[in-house]
Amino acid sequence: MNFDLSSEHYEIQQEAKNLASKIEPLAAQADELSVVHPTLKEMLRESGLVDLMVTTKYGGRTEQLDPLSICLVREVLAGTSCQLDSLFAMQGIGSFAITKKGSINQCEKWLPNVRSLDSLAALALTEPDAGSDLKSIITEIHETNSGFLLSGAKSWISNAGAASFYLVFVRDGGRFTMVIVPAESKGLRVTPCPEIISPHVLGEVTFDDVNLPADCIIGERGAALDLVLATLGTFRVSVAGAAVGLADAALQEAIMHTSQRKQFGRPLAKLGAVEQMLADCWTEIEMIRLLTYRAAQYAAIDPLESVHHSSMAKLAATEAASKIVDRCSQVMGRFGLARGTKMERLYRQARPMRIYEGASEVLRVGITRKLIEERTKN
Ligand SMILES: Cc1cc2nc3c(=O)[nH]c(=O)nc-3n(C[C@H](O)[C@H](O)[C@H](O)COP(=O)(O)OP(=O)(O)OC[C@H]3O[C@@H](n4cnc5c(N)ncnc54)[C@H](O)[C@@H]3O)c2cc1C
Repeated sequence: MNFDLSSEHYEIQQEAKNLASKIEPLAAQADELSVVHPTLKEMLRESGLVDLMVTTKYGGRTEQLDPLSICLVREVLAGTSCQLDSLFAMQGIGSFAITKKGSINQCEKWLPNVRSLDSLAALALTEPDAGSDLKSIITEIHETNSGFLLSGAKSWISNAGAASFYLVFVRDGGRFTMVIVPAESKGLRVTPCPEIISPHVLGEVTFDDVNLPADCIIGERGAALDLVLATLGTFRVSVAGAAVGLADAALQEAIMHTSQRKQFGRPLAKLGAVEQMLADCWTEIEMIRLLTYRAAQYAAIDPLESVHHSSMAKLAATEAASKIVDRCSQVMGRFGLARGTKMERLYRQARPMRIYEGASEVLRVGITRKLIEERTKN
């Protein structure tokens, strides 16, 4: 058993660090925006890191997407800017179904542009009345003479308004299908969502009888649940990677502050309770990092079979990140509460991670189902 990263993985981590150091001066400004920051997007493009989101056939780096590489990059980017992390992650999350089951035409049309960031991608699952209970969606397609008619609405969709296309999860008779909808389609409308505590490129997407061609379907009709599961199997663990990076960035802020500021004649970091809290933060970060890297390696082998590992990593890492950021803010006293600081940003950014790509409570349901299945089989 080897707990070290390979030299290729170290190189990818280094590339991400190079990008992050260039983005750092823009990060506070970008993370206050709910639209894409153009310079940030350009710098991400120049970094070539989005190559990790498509396969070699379409200009990417690897024959299959590598969840560990994606986790390592998200760990670094999320510690710097949540908009940067989201722009990177969405290129994979919003195109993975095409990579997995798209026709040659669909792959050739979209994937090279996803890689170059000429097309931003989006995945539209959630609806006003369907969140965790994904099977209750009502957005639907009906067959026509020339293709399909799409009607319904999707809610809180990342990249809405900025995306070039949407992968839309729809009801198709009694089953579920995934369709590609170009952003310029007649009848597609994007309206704003409520602003959230940590700004994010988000929007509501409405489909008023959108005409789609017959080749809009990704994979087989009626098989979209498997595509959603495969996407989550590959990318849910990457949210854990982002949470590890965010927690580590908070710890770094706390270390810098508590090593310099003195109270009772000593640096804060040498006062018993503060010392204990810093130790707990570091220990928990190492725990979630190991769990995340291991889950990513399982996901590389079989994302569907190992989805419970990805869920455990996401659950543990996002819950821990919230606690760690809170503790780090605590040891900084009033300076941990100041508006416009990195600590404030991290504090707000930790919160949504426990909701998207599976709320913690919903993940626990799936994990326990797997536990009972495993432990009660003969
Ligand atoms: C920043 C952000 C970006 C997002 N981007 C996208 C996107 O790109 N595409 C997309 O499709 N969606 C996106 N979403 C939506 C996200 O996927 C949903 O918010 C998520 O699935 C939870 O659904 P909900 O908010 O409707 O909560 P609900 O389903 O209403 O659940 C509310 C709470 O009830 C509890 N709960 C729900 N079900 C269960 C259960 N079975 N057992 C126990 N407890 C339960 C949980 O605590 C949960 O948090 C995004 C959300 C955020 C915050």
